[in-house]
Amino acid sequence: MQIASWVVRQSATPMTWETREERAGPGEALVQVAGCGVCHTDLGFFYDGVPTRHPFPLTLGHEVSGVVVDAGPGADAWVGRAVVVPAVLPCGECAACRAGRGQVCPTQIFPGSDVDGGFGTHLKVPARGLCPVPDLSQPANNPHRLDLPALSVIADAVSTPYQAILRSGLKPGDVAVFVGAGGIGGFGVQVAAALGGAVVAIDVNDERLAQMAQHGAALTINARTNDFKAIKKQVRAFADSRGVPTWRTKIFETSGTTQGQATAFGLIGHGGVLSVVGFTPQSVEVKLSNLMAFDAVAQGNWACLPEHYPAIVDLVLQGKVALTPFIEPRPMRTINEVFEQLHHGPAAGRIVLVPES
Ligand SMILES: [Zn+2]
Ligand SMILES: [Zn+2]
Repeated sequence: MQIASWVVRQSATPMTWETREERAGPGEALVQVAGCGVCHTDLGFFYDGVPTRHPFPLTLGHEVSGVVVDAGPGADAWVGRAVVVPAVLPCGECAACRAGRGQVCPTQIFPGSDVDGGFGTHLKVPARGLCPVPDLSQPANNPHRLDLPALSVIADAVSTPYQAILRSGLKPGDVAVFVGAGGIGGFGVQVAAALGGAVVAIDVNDERLAQMAQHGAALTINARTNDFKAIKKQVRAFADSRGVPTWRTKIFETSGTTQGQATAFGLIGHGGVLSVVGFTPQSVEVKLSNLMAFDAVAQGNWACLPEHYPAIVDLVLQGKVALTPFIEPRPMRTINEVFEQLHHGPAAGRIVLVPES
């Protein structure tokens, strides 16, 4: 089948619209893209020299929803189904996968890094791990009337913090602190609240904090107008007022900045958990011995296992995690302008590129 996509031939040089032949092989699905979210990671690949695993020329984009239009042997049952494509697709068969550690599967497929991604009309992915989406035209399935392009952000921005929250062991009533309430953190705040957490959102943008106060954050703190001491004091007072000790306080670094990382590390208390969800290529200096002294845990989080996706789709369709106020659909043909804009500063919402029909 002839498909087309936006190809990066050289970093920081406008992508070009190119056509190619693509056919689904055994176990593979060809997905017609409904929407593809633009992630901080795409900007890192495009502008900052973060290497993709398959060298350029390559099509970026790993936050995809769409419809399977063709499939190879063994995957025929997927044809015609609406799906969310997990940003990371583990092989499902290696020792890591069999041990439940698909996050570190050595042959995992990350569209837009290992293979051509979703900034195009179609992309080809392994069918294993695709997350089926129920029929959105049925009001019973979709009371909030979301469309398929909007669901693309589940593939990374919603699912990644979801897995981090699960692994932190967050229980209802525990305190969840998000350092950074942007693309990833904003959904993290909502997921943690939906799972019963008492959520603190820390960010540098007052508008964003006001929005998070409407969507799950019980306390918001501006890190531009509060120094670290003031932040720590407010977080402690909030936890104390709810009778939550430090060992039931989970910190999530979702800013992907060195300042955010320093703040998040500094907030760890006795028995606490820090989950590193954001990414920056820069280093930060921390007193690692605090982990020892506090018997605390610092954990990284890479993407989200496909097996968790159906529960996330449910949370979204039930309206427990709102997408619409947090995304900004744009025509896919504006991709070069969108990248340029995001390179100079964050957008109000996560931008979802929608192919022209
Ligand atoms: Zn991403
Ligand atoms: Zn594997």
